[in-house]
Order: sequence, then C-alpha cells, then structure tokens
Amino acid sequence: MLRFTAENLQPILSAHRLDTAGLLPLSACRITQGYLLARAGLSANEGSVLMLALPYTMPDTADEADRNISRYAVPCDYHHIAKDLLGRLIEELRRDWPGANFAAFADHSPIDERHAAAAAGLGMLGDHGLIITPHYASYVFLAEIITDLPTDAQPQIPQTCSHCGACRAACPVGLDKARCLSALTQKKGELSPDEQIALREGGLAWGCDRCQEVCPHARHAAPTPLAAFRQDRLYRLTAAEIEAMDDQTFSRRAYAWRGRAVILRNLRLLEKE
Ligand code: SF4
Ligand code: SF4
Repeated sequence: MLRFTAENLQPILSAHRLDTAGLLPLSACRITQGYLLARAGLSANEGSVLMLALPYTMPDTADEADRNISRYAVPCDYHHIAKDLLGRLIEELRRDWPGANFAAFADHSPIDERHAAAAAGLGMLGDHGLIITPHYASYVFLAEIITDLPTDAQPQIPQTCSHCGACRAACPVGLDKARCLSALTQKKGELSPDEQIALREGGLAWGCDRCQEVCPHARHAAPTPLAAFRQDRLYRLTAAEIEAMDDQTFSRRAYAWRGRAVILRNLRLLEKE
C-alpha cells in the first residue's frame, strides 16, 4: 500500500490549495477528548494526524478595513466550510488508501489542535494564544484528519514567537482571557454598563482582532486561496440586516451559535448615538 507520507499527500492537498499542512503521529499529540477518538473507531496509541491550517482573511481589501465584526466572522462559519472540505478530502484519501479509517475534526477535536499544529510544523505558538503560520500569520482556522494509518513523520518541538510584547500592549485587557473582548461579544444576556462601554470602545459587534493585527507577522499576511472563504463574505452588519436574515442564511454565520439576540444586542449598542 502507498505509504502515508507528506510527499504522497501532496497532490491531493495541492488540488485543494491547502499549502499549510503537516503530518505527525497521533501518539505525539495531547489527547484532550479521547471519547471522540473512540467514537470514530480510532486508538490514541496508533495512527497519524494530518494537521491543516485553513486561511480565512483578505487582509488588504477596503471592505476588510471597514468591517464591524472580527475578520474570522466575515466568511461563513468555518465549521461548515471545514466539514465540506474535509469530507471531500477524506473521499479522495479513501481512494488512495482503501480500507483505512479517516475521521475529520475542527475545533471539537480529540487533540490539542494548537499544540499539534506547532508539532506538525505549521507555525509557532504566539503569545496571543494562536498559531502564527509563515504565509497567513494567525488568520487561520485549524482542522485535522486523524487516521489509523501509521506515519514516519517526526513531531517537531513546538516553537514560540519572539515575545515582542506588541499584542499584550495593544490588548485592552492585557491578554487576560477571562476578560477578553471577543468572549464579551459572545456573552448572553444583559451586559453591565462597564461591559457596554468596553464593547463600544472595541468597536466590533463580534470578536476582536487587535492582538492579531498588531503582531509583526500579520503585516505581510497573504489572502486566503480557499474559494469557500473568499465568497459569501459579510463585512459590515446592521441590526436591521440581521433581523431580516432568513434562518438558513443566519445559521451559516459564525455569530449564529449564540443565537440572534446576542449579535443584535451588540449591533444595537454600536448603532446607538
Ligand atoms: S482578542 Fe482583543 S481582548 Fe482578546 S486577547 Fe486579543 S486583543 Fe485582547
Ligand atoms: S505580537 Fe509579538 S508577542 Fe504577540 S504573538 Fe506576535 S510576535 Fe508574539
């Protein structure tokens, strides 16, 4: 049988324009939700992980500069995109490796994705908590295909950024995850007066990009080559547009998972005189 190597995977990855990918043994990963492996018929002691970084932004466009939501929320929800893309990849992998077991994950994963991405050589761990890739900086989503096929690929020692401090200096809460503005925009219910002020000062109705945008590696981030992230982009929302959006369209947006009330509350706060 064809060996499960980076070289043999290259034609399939290139056909899908996936240029930030790496292989590592599953045994080198940190298992965080082992039941997901068991559910997919996989064992933590054998097999391999194909780690993928999916770039999502179009950094140099005027629309991108004018948006009122985080860069990651402009395209359709990546969970939908990753499901479609990885499903197609698995069909092709099954043709080359018949009989092997393949399972796709994105976000809801049995492994620590950031650690695995760094160990697979996709990039380095930034102080802002995200993987920094060479081409797309931290503007990537992580996803992976786990298989029972063995690999000879050796894991790398995860590298970290230079700790330049720019992200910490730019962050309104000093990189304190418990007070992160991105989490605040996703909080349900009423916001306190202080929280309302923080959201208005942040200026985005969903998420926050400050720590990523000031990172020196983000200066030359390339636009995504992936068609699914280049289409159906909504940069600037209004409360009226969200109210008028049909349920199916709304369900494919990144802000849908908290329900319509949360994004509407945030937009109305920003739209207040
Ligand atoms: S997303 Fe915003 S608030 Fe959260 S850590 Fe980054 S800069 Fe700070
Ligand atoms: S801004 Fe500096 S410290 Fe923060 S992630 Fe980028 S390189 Fe690391």
